[in-house]
Amino acid sequence: MDSVKTGKLIYRLRHEKNLTQKQLADMLGISDRTVSKWERGLGAPDISLLNELANCLNINTQSLLNGEYEVNDVSEGNMRKSKYYVCPNCKNLVVSTGDAEIYCCGRKLEDKKAQKADSEHEIITEDIENELYLTTKHPMTKEHYILFVAFVSADRMNIVKLYPEWDMQVRLPRRGHGMLLWYCTEHGLFYKYI
Ligand SMILES: [Zn+2]
Ligand SMILES: [Zn+2]
Repeated sequence: MDSVKTGKLIYRLRHEKNLTQKQLADMLGISDRTVSKWERGLGAPDISLLNELANCLNINTQSLLNGEYEVNDVSEGNMRKSKYYVCPNCKNLVVSTGDAEIYCCGRKLEDKKAQKADSEHEIITEDIENELYLTTKHPMTKEHYILFVAFVSADRMNIVKLYPEWDMQVRLPRRGHGMLLWYCTEHGLFYKYI
């Protein structure tokens, strides 16, 4: 650990959160003189405090140790390039328009790569009065179901969350061409262009 770099980072993050040295010290149950020392690079946080300090500053421990965090390239914001993360434990869905580190239930999530649907995962689309009407023969049981359907164009996205033991019948507003994505809890993310 480079205590000067880490100290500067602590200083910067503390200011971003509008905390005084005393306030941060109180959160950690230490003296403000200790915080002041870290920030001047005159000492490094004790291992036993690292996790809690990282939490207080909303940064991960590794970045705190490195004294810097990586800044992603500015994303073009093209919704079609969005990334989809699904937590295997709680089925939480997170959508990001750029690179992101996503954690849920204590685990790091990988973004799901979309694949072309096989016959089991086919979604039937019909145009009905400016809407897309979607149905599927895919199972909708608690163990194996379609978790969400999304229709994505360059600047907007419509997501419909689905629940097991309901027949899948989804209506989405249709706005030109776009990509339809859907996620099976067992087999992952699928797409097709419409
Ligand atoms: Zn989770
Ligand atoms: Zn499936």
